[in-house]
Amino acid sequence: CGIVAYIGPKDASPFLLEGLQRLEYRGYDSAGVAVVAPATKSAPAKLRVCKAKGRVADLAAALPARFKGTAGIGHTRWATHGVPSDANAHPHTDNEGRIAVVHNGIVENADELRAKLAADGAVFRSETDTEVLAHLIAAHRADGGGLEEAVRAALKLVVGTYGIAVLDAEQPDRIVVARNGSPIVLGIGEKEMFAASDVSALVRYTRQVVHLEDGELATVRADGFRTFTEDARTVTRKPSTVDWEV
Ligand code: GLU
Repeated sequence: CGIVAYIGPKDASPFLLEGLQRLEYRGYDSAGVAVVAPATKSAPAKLRVCKAKGRVADLAAALPARFKGTAGIGHTRWATHGVPSDANAHPHTDNEGRIAVVHNGIVENADELRAKLAADGAVFRSETDTEVLAHLIAAHRADGGGLEEAVRAALKLVVGTYGIAVLDAEQPDRIVVARNGSPIVLGIGEKEMFAASDVSALVRYTRQVVHLEDGELATVRADGFRTFTEDARTVTRKPSTVDWEV
């Protein structure tokens, strides 16, 4: 239903929670966030996920005090596949807890993809169509390309609609987003970048936006973005300015 994403120098979760609150008017049954905790001298970068059935306020209350990370994604869910529950709330992750995905829309061939992925060892922890995306991206991530290659390859196998945002603990310098039938807008800040399913989530932070078109993806980094098609063709996008009052 609603998607938000942040990457930059600041802690991501305050923006994620506020952005999700701004999308509340759309209606939802559960909410969740994932951040990449930066690497320390003794530990590699690690994905942290927190999700809860109910209101964004319930999610905020459930968030551990040490939920730190400068790249993050968030979601409010309107269930289509699987009951509203903590387990079915997004983000969804792969077996290793390395890839996190939030998704608006419906993966129509989820049953077929789930059967194939499960035969190859994917362990499913939700009833959602969305979880297949996390396992599918993880499977392609093992091919050796970067996160954008893995997302592109995964989406080629997907029939359905999606707006997605993807986080990878092994490439914490980027978030990959994609749109097909469900809107995604990028917000360009000063050395920080935002993405959302609706401009109202990010307009208090930046007025410079880029609306993705169906069949397009973007790699979003703190210092810029690149848009490309599902066939890996780069498309050049000039930001436009949102001029309405907040
Ligand atoms: N089909 C997904 C689910 O049921 C996404 C629903 C949504 O757009 O919020 O989890």
